[in-house]
Amino acid sequence: PLVLGIETSCDETGIGIVRGRELLANVIASSMDEHARYGGVVPEVAARAHLEALRPALTEAIATAGIELSDLDAVAVTSGPGLAGALMVGVGAAKALALSLDKPLYAVNHLVGHVGADVLGEDGPLEYPTIALLVSGGHTSLLLVRDLTSDVELLGETIDDAAGEAFDKVARILGLPYPGGPQIDRAAESGNPKAIRFPRGLTLPKDMDKHRYDFSFSGLKTAVARWVEVRRDAGEEIPISDVAASFREAVVDVLTAKAIAACTDFGIPRLLLGGGVIANARLREVAQQRADAAGIELRIPAFSLCTDNGAMIAALASELIMEGAEPSSLSFGADSTLPVTDIHVH
Ligand code: ATP
Ligand code: MG
Ligand code: FE
Repeated sequence: PLVLGIETSCDETGIGIVRGRELLANVIASSMDEHARYGGVVPEVAARAHLEALRPALTEAIATAGIELSDLDAVAVTSGPGLAGALMVGVGAAKALALSLDKPLYAVNHLVGHVGADVLGEDGPLEYPTIALLVSGGHTSLLLVRDLTSDVELLGETIDDAAGEAFDKVARILGLPYPGGPQIDRAAESGNPKAIRFPRGLTLPKDMDKHRYDFSFSGLKTAVARWVEVRRDAGEEIPISDVAASFREAVVDVLTAKAIAACTDFGIPRLLLGGGVIANARLREVAQQRADAAGIELRIPAFSLCTDNGAMIAALASELIMEGAEPSSLSFGADSTLPVTDIHVH
């Protein structure tokens, strides 16, 4: 099926078009720059930016795909989870488009969309079941995907900050600009990851009973803040590269250890990564090393399919359609806390 997907859950306005598992267009407009001076995504600003970016993104996507809107078999949209006001813009636009074109509408789950991005990759779709680790500015989730269109289970998630959020906050502590992920990543390249031993959240034996697949990054952030503060107060120079490298190592260590543990525990030799933090050079490297050592097939979609985008939403809807799923009724709304088990909203 020829499907157009709309994604507006956070700060990316994404319009993607797929035919079956073939990617035809993936236009992404980010309002990240507008949030820079606030040090994080501002919901009101994001919602307004979506309103402005949607129309041009739509025009560009249909031109890139070389299709007419009337050619579409279906429209798909992220209905949650995400920022309520931001989601509402996409949901409203999708309903209007589907109604005016008289096409079926599929409201799908953003997190499962990240998993769905894999089907657009060059290597063909991953086999199921698979473990998926999604790490972004808003999410840190470990999923057991038994079937992309019918059976997704949340194994664990962050109990406080998301991994990307931790990168952004630590960058701020170090005086680096937003978004902090790429800045820390770059600074870390010339630093010593063993210079400072920062805490690995929820990895102690007592935590591993209850929180085996959960994450916590706020303690790590506080540890970095304290480490820096003590030295600043003493008038010492802060070794930014060493702090960045040591912090990055702590995050990467926990993310990869827990993801690999899930694969081993469930006897699933497949791991899919997704979300903007996957751009992290060290995360990719350690994930590959540990996956190789454990005999696990590692999948990392292209970066434009890892960050928030409309193509993954279209791809998930396309899979749902091929499985015979019913379209959504027009009565659904944006659901900022949509659980991952709701792969699509009826
Ligand atoms: P959502 O959580 O809804 O998926 P988001 O906009 O918060 O949306 P993304 O756009 O996927 O998430 O990712 C942005 C986050 O990724 C930011 O927190 C950013 O700092 C982080 N990030 C980007 N590049 C890197 C990197 N190289 N290393 C670490 N973090 C990175
Ligand atoms: Mg974003
Ligand atoms: Fe996302």
